[in-house]
Amino acid sequence: MNITTENKKWLDDFNLNHPLVIAGPCSAETEEQVLKIAHELKNSDVSIFRAGIWKPRTRPGGFEGVGAIGLKWLQKAKAETGLLMAIEVANATHVQLALEHDIDVLWIGARTTVNPFAVQEIADALKNTDKIVLVKNPVNPDLALWIGGVERLYNAGIKNLGVIHRGFSTYEKTKYRNIPEWQLAIELQNRFPDLPLICDPSHITGKRDMIQEVSQQALDLNYDGLIIETHIDPDNAWSDAAQQVTPTVLKQIFKDLRIRKETDNADDYNNRLAKYRIDIDEYDTKLLEILGKRMKVADKIGALKKEKNVAVLQNKRWNEILGKMILDGEEKGLSEEFILKIFKAIHQESISHQEKIING
Ligand code: PEP
Ligand code: MN
Repeated sequence: MNITTENKKWLDDFNLNHPLVIAGPCSAETEEQVLKIAHELKNSDVSIFRAGIWKPRTRPGGFEGVGAIGLKWLQKAKAETGLLMAIEVANATHVQLALEHDIDVLWIGARTTVNPFAVQEIADALKNTDKIVLVKNPVNPDLALWIGGVERLYNAGIKNLGVIHRGFSTYEKTKYRNIPEWQLAIELQNRFPDLPLICDPSHITGKRDMIQEVSQQALDLNYDGLIIETHIDPDNAWSDAAQQVTPTVLKQIFKDLRIRKETDNADDYNNRLAKYRIDIDEYDTKLLEILGKRMKVADKIGALKKEKNVAVLQNKRWNEILGKMILDGEEKGLSEEFILKIFKAIHQESISHQEKIING
């Protein structure tokens, strides 16, 4: 389905900067906290203020948000700073309250996107409004579920739509809180180029020290915006303390980010880029050719081993090859990690070729 025919139009309609910056605390805690942060973010790169009013918690007993009272604080922050206000909604009651309090942007959280019943309920409650609605990716890496959420809203007549990439839950121990799986978000961007794509480095990393690095990666991949949790006293935040930054740090992050243009129409740029792409395509074709030839040799070795009744796997020889390749690779500026990965894959393919011959 064609989700929107109007190319990222709401970014212009609402006069939003590139990149679009959404910032504010994980949770609204007190009126004073909300107002202080909003005032510090006014007159900066930030155009939308975020704050969680109802917090989905993994287990009961944690801080579950201040509830509807917080909406009054956001109204006040909006009146005093002119920032647009964004909150998370998880059901029709939240939507109703958000509409009553003139909230501008509603996002659907990762734990809600996984549930088509909940997303449909939200879509029905928002029917034909001109609110900006952002759909976070579901907790699990399921692109269809993410797209399905967007489609439910689109079908309810909501045109000011965007998506937030906040990473995916994993059982593995990694340096991220939620692994990015960039290729999934890029796939979404390719399939729906009219849909603004926003990165949430706070929930991807879970650590304030990594926000800069992941934000830069997102901009390098042509994302339209960033949503970054920002708090006046991050260490004492009532939720997600480790990943929030102060408004001062946020400003520094934006000073240091290299903001790239989506494209450059200058002929020089296009000509050079086109030429580099031709080179890359040529090398990729050559790589495939060489790999194909290498596997033909593996087939011959397989035939020889079959004739002489010798085992396929020869560990000593394999370790020698690998050691040499790591050294040669280093000379060519290729990391050991890359060499290990690529040669393991080649070796594996070579073994399956030989096995096929031997057992064939
Ligand atoms: C949040 O933005 O504070 C939040 C709860 O995010 P997510 O739904 O991505 O976990
Ligand atoms: Mn949070």
